Amino acid sequence: MVATRALVHGIGIGNGTAVGVVLRMPDPLGDPPDVDSTADPVDEYMRVTESLAATAADLVARATRSEGEGRDVLEAQALMAEDPSVIEDARARIDQGKTAERAVFEAFREFQRVLEGMGGYMAGRAADLRDVAQRAVAQLRGVPVPGVPHSDAPFVLVAHDLAPADTALLDLDKVLAIVTRDGGPTSHTAILARSKGLVAVVGAAGSETLYNGQLVIVDAAAGTVQANPSPQEAEDARTRPLQIIGGRRLTPGVLADGRAGPLLANRGTPQDASAAVALGAEGVGLFRTEFLFLDAHEAPTVAAQQDQYTALLRAFPGKRVVVRVLDAGADKQLAFLGSSPEENPALGRRGIRALKQNEQTLRDQLTALAAAQEATEADLCVMAPMIADLDETRYFVDLGRELGLRTLGVTVEVPSAAVLAEQIVQVCDFVSIGTNDLTQYTMAADRMLGSVASYQDPWHPAVLRLVKMIGEAGGAASVPVGVCGEAAADPLLAIVFVGLGVTDLSMSPAALADVRESLRRVGLSDAQALARLATQATSAASARAAVADALAALPQ
Ligand code: PEP
Ligand code: MG
Repeated sequence: MVATRALVHGIGIGNGTAVGVVLRMPDPLGDPPDVDSTADPVDEYMRVTESLAATAADLVARATRSEGEGRDVLEAQALMAEDPSVIEDARARIDQGKTAERAVFEAFREFQRVLEGMGGYMAGRAADLRDVAQRAVAQLRGVPVPGVPHSDAPFVLVAHDLAPADTALLDLDKVLAIVTRDGGPTSHTAILARSKGLVAVVGAAGSETLYNGQLVIVDAAAGTVQANPSPQEAEDARTRPLQIIGGRRLTPGVLADGRAGPLLANRGTPQDASAAVALGAEGVGLFRTEFLFLDAHEAPTVAAQQDQYTALLRAFPGKRVVVRVLDAGADKQLAFLGSSPEENPALGRRGIRALKQNEQTLRDQLTALAAAQEATEADLCVMAPMIADLDETRYFVDLGRELGLRTLGVTVEVPSAAVLAEQIVQVCDFVSIGTNDLTQYTMAADRMLGSVASYQDPWHPAVLRLVKMIGEAGGAASVPVGVCGEAAADPLLAIVFVGLGVTDLSMSPAALADVRESLRRVGLSDAQALARLATQATSAASARAAVADALAALPQ
């Protein structure tokens, strides 16, 4: 049989290329149906005990290959798998006529409810139990265990989608590239892949056809996955030089007329701060604190947080560092903030809404930030995610001031906040536009869904008109307006943002050089004229084309 050399298309993240064999991530298992068992209860009981023993043995084996907190969690899960009360509960359910799969599922679900009812740390362990239950049911069904697969050899991970927690825990020595069927360019999988420098193609609808062990070339610049390449194609891809960003001067962001347009970096851990400095970041425009705690079961202590924030601020003496307080919810669940299932989690209890319900966690975080502010020389600015209106802005700013923070702002990413920007800028020190969510909510297009990725376009005049409202409100009140969504990394759109009144841009450090070069081509009045063209267009594509043509026609 001749292997087909299919080309799968998606949205590439970054410029890299990777060559390797596919390892698919199995999907979560559905709930076992609640039907009457026709099997002999004694056989079903045997199957349950064997599957739980095998699950525990597998978890112990995984624990021996892990370190630190990961190891502790796996060891605790192995104990849960063989908890005598679960086995007894499953046996009683089999006696009532349940299948082995259903009995195990219900026994663990009962155990989960008990833990959730205890709250705090124990509630956090309920997610671990769900994982153990899935593993045991997979054993019973004889199908692969869901979750990121383990392999001793490097591989290309292919998945329907990855939860941020999965992406955060990937073994970067083994994962050569990520390919997902779902997820748009601003999904958190894409953002984390970008920040870890991983080659990725997301929203790759045809990736369903890729199978385990198949050789593929993942080309992020082209946004393609080539299945079964020839030996020569694979060799060429392996030796293809990376696009070099170096060699260009790391000057501050500035327009052709000498006006400053500061270029800042988006970061997720203090450790990757130095990479941003090396690429010329003039500070940090968005530090996503939730990325530090995705796998934490308990709320981090003030002392632990203070250490992390101090390490970050020390890398930027005298520079602006914008730290966003925890943005939990939707696809970034934090176990210690508690959650209940929601039909539309992106429209649910997320960002500041979740923090208001856990005010002590917010107070602890602000206290840790204030201590880091006093211990370092950085210009710390702290902002809240998902603010909807003036009341929420006041709530956050008042709390921050009470706890000693000097500069407080909000992310404008909910359309209501953009419409009411004129009111919001009266009570805060700065705003930062989250174009990822602002686009998602304006266009009613879930940023996690590859099938609507074409709507996730920040060039859409509807999004740009909201940016204009925010820019004008900030300008009138002399309040800085940043952009910290992925759109700031688009060199052409960056010019439009400046023309709409944006005063600083924050992006993945790899994009800094291109945006810096782009801004140098225009003065403020040119940028304003280009922005007018974009807001008057009728579609994202025509806005982009109009700006590109007009820029090309400008005298160089
Ligand atoms: C945004 O929504 O643009 C943003 C910066 O926040 P996040 O991507 O973390 O939701
Ligand atoms: Mg957001």
